[in-house]
Amino acid sequence: MKRIYLDHAATTPTHPEVLKEMLPYFTDTFGNPSSIHSYGQEAKGAIEEARTKVAELIGARDDEVVFTSGGTEADNFAIKGVAFANENKGDHIITSSIEHHAVMESCQFIEKRGFRVTYLPVDTAGLVDPDDVKKAITDKTILISVMHANNEMGTIEPIAEIGRIARKAGIYFHTDAVQTVGHIPVDVNELGVDLVSMSAHKLYGPKGVGALYIRKGTKLIPFMHGGEQERKRRSSTENVPGIVGFGCAAGFALREMDQETVRLTHLRGHLINGLLNHIDRVSLNGHPEKRLPNNVNVSIDFVEGESMLLNLDLEAICASTGSACSSSTLESSHVLLAMGLSHELAHGSLRFTLGKWTTEEEINRVLEVLPRIVVKLRAMSPLLKNRR
Ligand code: PLP
Repeated sequence: MKRIYLDHAATTPTHPEVLKEMLPYFTDTFGNPSSIHSYGQEAKGAIEEARTKVAELIGARDDEVVFTSGGTEADNFAIKGVAFANENKGDHIITSSIEHHAVMESCQFIEKRGFRVTYLPVDTAGLVDPDDVKKAITDKTILISVMHANNEMGTIEPIAEIGRIARKAGIYFHTDAVQTVGHIPVDVNELGVDLVSMSAHKLYGPKGVGALYIRKGTKLIPFMHGGEQERKRRSSTENVPGIVGFGCAAGFALREMDQETVRLTHLRGHLINGLLNHIDRVSLNGHPEKRLPNNVNVSIDFVEGESMLLNLDLEAICASTGSACSSSTLESSHVLLAMGLSHELAHGSLRFTLGKWTTEEEINRVLEVLPRIVVKLRAMSPLLKNRR
């Protein structure tokens, strides 16, 4: 049976054309970009070309893009880098209660080192209220970090509005745009952001490479010390094939985004309507419109997300509960709890994230299989028996 992959928020397959561009950088063009001979200069040239493509995708200048090992490193770099570089100015950071663990745990780390962090609430659709950001600002606030779109339920946050508030108050503004770069328009000037985290493997590039956009003039300290690569901001020999792949994927994303958004939004609507019509007691998590074009997250009463997931897997359908990083734990998603869902409903959540090669037939197959699974699981559900 051909497998159906509906977990593109966890990772995307590397685009075959991206892989093709990467391959020579493992073999013929293997030089160290810091070497001054021709091998090195070829590799350096390839990195700079990729930097231009990534910068173009987010409306940035080339020298404002620093390559990292992924989104997690970019988030850590932004939060810790700004905090430690600006501690003479203040000790307060504002973030939201639905951030990815990479932001959450970086914030918790700096809290243990004397910083204060405000975790803003979200409404039932997962939206941060810009007014709450404004109210949380003190004269000690040095950084605001709010994600562009949430990886679990896909809600797109009012980043441009928060950006205006941050700018007016003269506070650095970081956004984790790992789920949006390459999928919906991200323009650093329109959004008013100073730092943006990105990750190649979420946009059909390879794993283990990402970038942090750093607006010129932003004060942050590097935490990788060594050979002073990336203009002294991130030491370590560059992941040349990975960076080339990221650049190539960024180019594809820029060319195909509009068309993909229309196609995915249609498929998303088909899946949401189908689930709501074919299964009783199911609710959509996240905002109905302000959501990523490829994200469907639902809670289904009286069934465990994990049981649905395993049963779907037996039918060759790969989906997710919560985020990829927390699906190995049985803890409820902090995101769904922050939106006010009960533990029961948070545990009954399922996330389908569609991608470039998702077809209508695949969605129809989910709509054929999942209602049957739900009926079967409900028949043996202790959650339902306790209600009777
Ligand atoms: N931020 C968000 C919103 C994510 O969804 C992810 C990955 O799931 C990350 C950060 C971490 O990115 P990476 O896997 O490149 O470290």
